[in-house]
Amino acid sequence: MSNSPVWHPFTQHALEPAMKRIVGTGGAYLVDEDGARILDAISSWWVITHGHCQPAIMEAIRRASEAYDQIIFAEYTHEPAEELAKGLIEIAPAGLKHVFYSDSGSTAVEVALKMALGYFHNTGRPRGRICVLKHGYHGDTIGTMSAGERGVFNAAYEPFLFAVDRLPFPDSGREQHTLDAFETHCASGEIAALLIEPLVLGAGGMKVYPAATLAELKRIAERHGTLLIADEVMTGWGRTGTRFACEQADIVPDILCTSKGLTGGALPLAATLCTAPIFDAHLSRDRRRTFFHSSSYTANPIACAAALANLGIWKTEPVAERVAALAGGQRRRLQRFEADPRLRDVRQAGTIAVLELDVPTGGYLSDVGPRLRAFFRKRQLLIRPLGNVIYLMPPYCVTEADLDRAYDAIDEAASALAKGQL
Ligand code: PMP
Repeated sequence: MSNSPVWHPFTQHALEPAMKRIVGTGGAYLVDEDGARILDAISSWWVITHGHCQPAIMEAIRRASEAYDQIIFAEYTHEPAEELAKGLIEIAPAGLKHVFYSDSGSTAVEVALKMALGYFHNTGRPRGRICVLKHGYHGDTIGTMSAGERGVFNAAYEPFLFAVDRLPFPDSGREQHTLDAFETHCASGEIAALLIEPLVLGAGGMKVYPAATLAELKRIAERHGTLLIADEVMTGWGRTGTRFACEQADIVPDILCTSKGLTGGALPLAATLCTAPIFDAHLSRDRRRTFFHSSSYTANPIACAAALANLGIWKTEPVAERVAALAGGQRRRLQRFEADPRLRDVRQAGTIAVLELDVPTGGYLSDVGPRLRAFFRKRQLLIRPLGNVIYLMPPYCVTEADLDRAYDAIDEAASALAKGQL
């Protein structure tokens, strides 16, 4: 334990060692106070897409910070926010027409939930329930925690959490079961929205399901007038192989949440995109229909400029090719672990590789994850397994040699764990 006054997120300070200070970043690496270079194999909680301190993004931040600080975002607007909204509409699934800014993934999802409820409320047919998938994760605010999987990590807050309708996860071979359950919930006529992480459930264990199931869920939602909210906070910006995961199912969600890679990971910013009917339901001379949501740092101009630079990189650099190359590199390396008795499952979604170790996990309180973390930390690798689920989600500038080092360490860790030496 350290005597720092800082209280870190998701950290048990009674058990965690004193933390090393990071003094610089660049590419796929963090540099600590001792000069050690640490491979950031999880993109600093999944935010860094192109690489740390990407030059065009840093330059855009420098330039914007000479002109702007925070600017109130009601009554007034500014060019970075206007240009970014136009750029996002251009590249998002066609049909998403409006952009509401906020500052984190959780707030993007909170905004989405409020938009969905507001839509039904304002059109005079209120609906008060939402459907979610088992194992989902949407953030740590009260609303997003309510929608996420329940467990030891939110037991203390249970009295404040609201009820949601949970669908079974579409495990391989059980997809129809999920679809049937959704159909039944929708038939009640009370489901305002299905809130879902498209293709990969992140913090809930990096669980992957097929694009065809997502497409079918959208069709069912549409039939029942239920909105589909795609939480692309993690999956967006190339992680699953396409810019947005929804593209693989060829669907247009009614609401799409993006954050993390929106600025290439350099600054906090989020956006909730929606279709015209949802915006229009809030458009009225009756002020009661206003969308009552704001946060002080909405649409921070410097963060918007960083996001514009990110859009520029996607336009002018071969990002899709880098994503495809990384996905290929992960696929080739995962092959060596297929049919490996030390692993329960190996899976992949685009640039995200997942290796599930065959060890009893004991749930969230087990120390398998922390022991693995310590093992990787000693080898100057930032890898934070979710219990027995090791995953790699590196920035797209990661090299083949970096990947080799990460996979060798995972191999070593799996053996050490199997022999009880970890
Ligand atoms: N949704 C998903 C799918 C996420 O993975 C996360 C963060 N890991 C969030 C929402 C919450 O984002 P933030 O931590 O920026 O609030």
